[in-house]
Amino acid sequence: MSDPHQNAVAQLEVVAKLLVDQYQDKKRFKQVIEKLKTPDRVIEGQLKVKMDNGQVRQFKAFRSQHNNARGPYKGGIRFHPDVNKFEVMALSTWMTWKCAVTGIPYGGSKGGVVVNPRELSQAELERLSRAYVNFVADDIGPWTDIPAPDVSTTGQTMAWMVDEWEKVRRQRDGQMHENPLATFTGKPLALGGSQGRDEATGLGGAYILEKMARALGKKPQTTTVAVQGFGNVGSWFAIHAHRLGYKIVAISDSKGAIYVETGLDPNKALACKQAGGQLGDSAKSCPSCANKKMEKLTNDQLLELDVDVLVPSALENVITSQNAHKIKAKAIIEMANGPITPEADSILDKKGILVIPDVLANAGGVTVSYFEWVQNLQGYYWSHEEVLTKLKPLMETAFDQMWQMKEKTGQSGRVSVYLTAVKRVVDAVMLRGRG
Ligand code: GLU
Repeated sequence: MSDPHQNAVAQLEVVAKLLVDQYQDKKRFKQVIEKLKTPDRVIEGQLKVKMDNGQVRQFKAFRSQHNNARGPYKGGIRFHPDVNKFEVMALSTWMTWKCAVTGIPYGGSKGGVVVNPRELSQAELERLSRAYVNFVADDIGPWTDIPAPDVSTTGQTMAWMVDEWEKVRRQRDGQMHENPLATFTGKPLALGGSQGRDEATGLGGAYILEKMARALGKKPQTTTVAVQGFGNVGSWFAIHAHRLGYKIVAISDSKGAIYVETGLDPNKALACKQAGGQLGDSAKSCPSCANKKMEKLTNDQLLELDVDVLVPSALENVITSQNAHKIKAKAIIEMANGPITPEADSILDKKGILVIPDVLANAGGVTVSYFEWVQNLQGYYWSHEEVLTKLKPLMETAFDQMWQMKEKTGQSGRVSVYLTAVKRVVDAVMLRGRG
């Protein structure tokens, strides 16, 4: 299994070689790049959580703060059994680039707990979330590091965390912190959340799909799309792409995939899933899907479908040197973080498959997190329409910058995005006189 942090370093090295000529002081540039290969700080701990049966269980926890030259560290917290130190380090590095891509004033961080959240009750999840906050309480805050949801964490998780952070800081500092709400984003609407945050990552990706289709001269109705992963990101992406007229022919979750050649309605698939069914099974019993010609596929088969656009929306390393040569999609939009390994990247590049990288494609989430933070700091809340009106141009500008860079340099989509993002971070580090 490929180490995501090594992947992140390999990506940075490729871009550094192309950027170095833009800097007079090459020695200093190389020092800054060396610094950016490792996070500023990685905090590790063991969370002790009381289970419902009275026993205490330990969970390994991490927070990686990669770089804060452009602003406070920013990044989600994931609950997943595969979380490890190197994954969290990589994800925090990608957050630094992601925030630079749309130009929001943050650096990058990421947190994680090694846990299978499906095995825990709501009460146990609450105690785990509160234990995580106790572990990082002194290292986060509105001007230092601002967590958010990530894989298997939700608005509810953030609500427990805000409450715990407020309590812990009051105890430790002897007074109430002036703005606990601005310490976390992705909160529920009833607790200082932003309109549109829930759908923002998927919607931002759908804006990118529109821009890409236009750049390639393709029409929505004849553009087939396969979405791997049907969590928050994948489902919202599919719903918005469907609304914009794209033909969603396949979707999958961790249990398997479904394929409908004539196109399916992700809203109905989501309703089936929310009613407690599984994608394939529910399609049989669900009246809205049963009359469709639906085929069941494995996740691997979905990845290898002959579609116009493949959208990995779950976890890292799903397209590797093992399966990259079998990919038939004409373009890939990375809605997950790090779904393609660097080896697979070069295979896809040689095959002429366009890849829109994660740090651009899924930047809508952290961008609306930034809007949420601004609203919390101002105590003034925007309408749904206002949020979307502000998100769209940021995503579109970031896409245009990538496209222009790609045309100018002939580099891949990923390298083209990184050329702008890494330069913004390097310049901020140098201006501060660091590195
Ligand atoms: N977890 C999301 C990401 O990977 C959002 C991060 C945030 O909003 O801070 O982009």
